[in-house]
Amino acid sequence: MTLLEAKHYVHFQSSKSSHPMKIGSYQLHTIETGRFRLDGGTFFATIPKTLWHQHIPSDDENRVELALRCLLIKGKRKNILIDCGIGYKMDDKVKTFMAIDHTRYNLERSLQAVGLEKRDITHVILTHFHYDHAGGATDYDHQGNLVPAFPNALYYIQRKNLMWALNPSDSDRQSYLMENIEPLRSKHCLRIVSGRVELFPDIELMPFNGHTVGLQAVKISDRNTTLIYCADVIPTTAHLPPHWVMAYDLHPLTSIEEKKNLLAKACKHQWILFLEHDPNIEACRIRLNDGKYELREEICL
Ligand SMILES: [Zn+2]
Repeated sequence: MTLLEAKHYVHFQSSKSSHPMKIGSYQLHTIETGRFRLDGGTFFATIPKTLWHQHIPSDDENRVELALRCLLIKGKRKNILIDCGIGYKMDDKVKTFMAIDHTRYNLERSLQAVGLEKRDITHVILTHFHYDHAGGATDYDHQGNLVPAFPNALYYIQRKNLMWALNPSDSDRQSYLMENIEPLRSKHCLRIVSGRVELFPDIELMPFNGHTVGLQAVKISDRNTTLIYCADVIPTTAHLPPHWVMAYDLHPLTSIEEKKNLLAKACKHQWILFLEHDPNIEACRIRLNDGKYELREEICL
């Protein structure tokens, strides 16, 4: 590990368009749903703090602040949301422990900014059932019953992830909460997919098995542009080096191989990588410099 490697994202150009990004007949909008904090050591696993701290500084409890950034795909009479944020069901103790913050950003305000409400969402693609991706999938109604948070949406999950979420290991049980799964099953709005699937024209689901079992990243592409919603395969720009993986990953060696494959294609074809957890950078293109992947261009949708 060299310092040069640790500073792989220092030099970049930024671009911001006044128009929403378009891919094919879809408009893409970033939907910020809130912030939370995780222990920096866990978030960067074997990477020494002296290195990860240069990317995301920690607070006095050693926590790093992370985004809960979803993506809205509008078009073909659909409003498709990828992931739902952490939601509002956590108790006060957990909210404090993880510094869950919906004051700067929340799902409702972000949807409102593009003229939508939760009932307008037609489809929800859940990358996986971890609480920080699927917590917003369900909520309490006025009677205190757990219900799907998007009443008119169909939700999509990989079969392998659902099976795992219903029977997780001792090491990841705390990340899979039944309150985020059961209301979708009981209201029959959960649709199960298996493997690599073109869910809609130009929208493809890509399975990964290093972070957890049956995570699905999402590839949105036309002839000119491809965007990958990376979810926890590449959570932040700091995780661009393949071996910078999280301690949460069930199969870190698989994560490294999967990330290498994705990075090689993203670099070669100049795909846009959308980053769910990066505190500062929504999306980016990368380049290879002296054998290391680094940020080439920051993208704001
Ligand atoms: Zn996860």
